[in-house]
Amino acid sequence: MKTTHSAGHLTDRLPVIAYLGVGSNLGDPVRNCRDALRELSSLKNIQVLRRSSLYRTEPVGDTRQDWFVNGVLEIRTTFTARQLLKAAQWAEQALGRVRAEKWGPRAIDIDILLVGQEIVNTDALVVPHPEMHRRRFVLEPMNEIAPYVIHPLYGVSMKGLLDRLVDEHAVERIDAGW
Ligand code: AMP
Repeated sequence: MKTTHSAGHLTDRLPVIAYLGVGSNLGDPVRNCRDALRELSSLKNIQVLRRSSLYRTEPVGDTRQDWFVNGVLEIRTTFTARQLLKAAQWAEQALGRVRAEKWGPRAIDIDILLVGQEIVNTDALVVPHPEMHRRRFVLEPMNEIAPYVIHPLYGVSMKGLLDRLVDEHAVERIDAGW
């Protein structure tokens, strides 16, 4: 059968499944993660499909700072990886601005973990996120919601990466949802 396409169909990007890492260790970290979810959900190009539990996680690197709260979101999006980074930065700034007026500085970090099977390697953006396969605070929540998703560079599932992970930093699931 012959199919016809409008110009709109030709320029529309098909949605892809992407994974975002969200983390905070300042102020009320659970609340910050909830706020980030709300900001991201408000964008019409992003539909949140699944959210992992939230986890209390031991900081990697500078151990003098407070423990983090981390979680992972599975989204459907028509954004490119680059547009997703812009959206994440917009959400971070939106939250920072609100808080600067009301409750003082807070931290929220949104990482682009995976965007379909896309591989991006520029100065501003590296996807898959270059640390994700090394971090328990990413792989535990990823394994909860997407154990069979394959890492496009290593050809190994999230479960496979977690099974062979060497990262002694503590990651504890918490009861609070987002
Ligand atoms: P950070 O403050 O540690 O979250 O780093 C943010 C910077 O990392 C931004 O300026 C981004 O341009 C860059 N970046 C590179 N790859 C990624 C990624 N996959 N997700 C988020 N930020 C990224």
